[in-house]
Amino acid sequence: MGSSSVLPPEARRLEGKVALITGGASGIGASTARLFSKNGAKVVIADLQDEMGHSLCKELNPECTTFVHCDVTKETDVENAVNCAVSTYGKLDIMYNNAGIIGVKKTSILDNTQDDFEQVIKVNLLGPFLGTKHAARVMIPARKGCIINTASICSVIGGALSHGYTSAKHGVHGLVKNTAVELGKYGIRVNCVSPYVVPTPAARDIFEPDANGVPPTIYSNLKGKNVTPEDIADAALFLASDDSKYVSGHNLLVDGGYTALNAGFC
Ligand code: NAD
Repeated sequence: MGSSSVLPPEARRLEGKVALITGGASGIGASTARLFSKNGAKVVIADLQDEMGHSLCKELNPECTTFVHCDVTKETDVENAVNCAVSTYGKLDIMYNNAGIIGVKKTSILDNTQDDFEQVIKVNLLGPFLGTKHAARVMIPARKGCIINTASICSVIGGALSHGYTSAKHGVHGLVKNTAVELGKYGIRVNCVSPYVVPTPAARDIFEPDANGVPPTIYSNLKGKNVTPEDIADAALFLASDDSKYVSGHNLLVDGGYTALNAGFC
């Protein structure tokens, strides 16, 4: 029995839905795959990491979970991942463009190369563009669908990470707004979720202890609570489910109020 049988049917908020999650083999994507699966969705995990993707499928209900190798910077791979969802489960209801990299940690623009910048833009912005395009290709004829993207607090503030990362994540929200306007007439909602610093492999450097082995203090605006991948998955579930049926073009910050503080005068 897979974990999808844990909740009673009335509590399963994605019953009968088909979801594709890019970057679904690790971190936020893997937590979301677990939560979507538990809520009754059939899930296609699209990622570069084949072994991790296959092993997550085994952990979840293998009858309702599929892995497809996909590099989100390659249009043919993204097209194939969307086609895989449709050919395996008959349709695509939820596209979660989540794959992302933080990239080379160089904060000065003088140290950033064109390659550094382009690499981060390709995965974090071109990836969601291709994912949105190919999801729309199958959702428009169906006259329904839900597209979610993982942005970041770097979609609303600067200075935390590299120029490429901040530019890409601001761009993701721009893409969301443009496509939410365009696709609304087909009943398709488009949103993004913007996490604070989450302990995942992508953020390994941020959580790295210093030379004396002392772990960094990660500031939390919510006393006694640090954000987890599961918190981001909860937000993605809200955006994927009918609980958010009138929410589109929105950037849902999951940051415990961190950016509210930074936008203020304290
Ligand atoms: P992660 O490294 O655990 O997961 C990212 C996944 O994306 C990995 O499985 C990786 O293999 C996959 N991936 C990378 N490049 C890919 C490509 N070209 N094609 C397909 N898959 C690819 O990291 P995470 O923190 O779970 O990251 C998920 C998303 O969350 C990213 O978009 C990231 O920018 C965003 N985010 C993370 C944090 C954080 O602090 N961890 C904060 C804000 C936003």
